[in-house]
Amino acid sequence: MEKCDVAIVGAGPAGSATAISLAERGYRVALIDRAVFPRDKLCGDFLNPINWPVLEELHVSQDLLSLPHTKVSRFRITTADGSEAMSAFPAQGVRPFGLGLRRFHLDHVLVARAKRVGASVLEGTKLKVVKMQPRGWLLDMSRDGEPISLRAKLLVGADGRNSAVARQLGVASELPKRLAAVGFEIQLQNVPSVPDSVEIHQFTGGYAGIVRVDGGQVNLCCTVRRELLGKSVSFENLRARLLRDNPFLNELLSASVPVSEFRSVSPVYFPARRCFGDGFILVGDAARVTEPVTGEGIYLALRSGQLGAATVEKALGEGNLRAVRLSEYERACQAEFAARFRLNSLIRNLVYRPKALSLAVRLLSRRQRFLALLVNAVCQRRAAFAG
Ligand SMILES: Cc1cc2nc3c(=O)[nH]c(=O)nc-3n(C[C@H](O)[C@H](O)[C@H](O)COP(=O)(O)OP(=O)(O)OC[C@H]3O[C@@H](n4cnc5c(N)ncnc54)[C@H](O)[C@@H]3O)c2cc1C
Repeated sequence: MEKCDVAIVGAGPAGSATAISLAERGYRVALIDRAVFPRDKLCGDFLNPINWPVLEELHVSQDLLSLPHTKVSRFRITTADGSEAMSAFPAQGVRPFGLGLRRFHLDHVLVARAKRVGASVLEGTKLKVVKMQPRGWLLDMSRDGEPISLRAKLLVGADGRNSAVARQLGVASELPKRLAAVGFEIQLQNVPSVPDSVEIHQFTGGYAGIVRVDGGQVNLCCTVRRELLGKSVSFENLRARLLRDNPFLNELLSASVPVSEFRSVSPVYFPARRCFGDGFILVGDAARVTEPVTGEGIYLALRSGQLGAATVEKALGEGNLRAVRLSEYERACQAEFAARFRLNSLIRNLVYRPKALSLAVRLLSRRQRFLALLVNAVCQRRAAFAG
């Protein structure tokens, strides 16, 4: 049976960032994912400019820029009643633009970096059961239908919004029904969208995000309140709703042609849960899921991975893996993300309320300074709203 210092379940942005940070510091890291990379993943495919400093620290920026992408330097929002507002991204920072970049590429580059710095990457390997034992963790997994096991001193749950690690360790709770919405994604061609903007278009019961990813391809992502959905949802019946509800979407999508599968996911939001305990931490979506409207999920995943790795390094160094030691990670997340969560939750309260959102968008279109402040707060680390 293999042994390691840290077993990380999930090789999305959160797991890979944790693995890179710890493997670079000399720890024996196992990064486990049920998928084989590169693989597609439901996402809006918008890489917010706030990610650049983290991507630099992880040494992956140049690799990402060498792959097919679109530079994104503006944000536009529209509402069902025809209001619209637009703002450029802040001109400061490492690079004053975000990217339209497929997760197929992003996640693959991060996993490849983790391998290069010495992490042992177990692809096509699904976690089944995790057990705490007197001298650490025992992970029972399966690969190609065969059982495999691994021992680790410390466990990192980075396995996304439906985290099996969080469920098995008893820190995942039932979500309130009022938070229920479903996310959808599809890649399209023949969409005449502005090539350098990321766009949010509101419709009854939800909103659509649009960004050009590469060549002629556009990512369309939607979030819809569950109670408005029938038993089965096809792209065609969702598109009919979007064309009917929002004149801007009608203009953009009427000639669009699907070029990928139509994917769905839930939940699209839940508030932060306890993200540490004896011998474990949770990073990325496994710990909290912000409303995708602000395009910050990848940043929170990467950055929480870095913050988690910093605490894990100290805890391993001191030989103290107790919850009280690892609670430092939760405090670091609070200190860094609390203002961001408040802003995300404010925007989430507006985005499902057509009248309030329309009023806000009309006000912001006349008060460009406020819109620029909001965009700065979402796209920059030292944001105007930081607490
Ligand atoms: C509709 C929608 C649109 C979005 N758009 C954007 C956007 O444009 N920009 C942005 O920044 N964020 C966006 N997000 C959020 C973003 O996708 C997530 O926040 C981000 O993927 C979180 O990364 P993660 O590493 O925590 O989890 P994930 O990316 O979900 O990675 C988890 C990994 O764990 C693996 N895994 C799961 N279970 C197991 C198991 N039992 N065993 C082994 N492996 C396992 C999975 O295969 C996966 O690779 C969007 C979210 C939604 C719902």
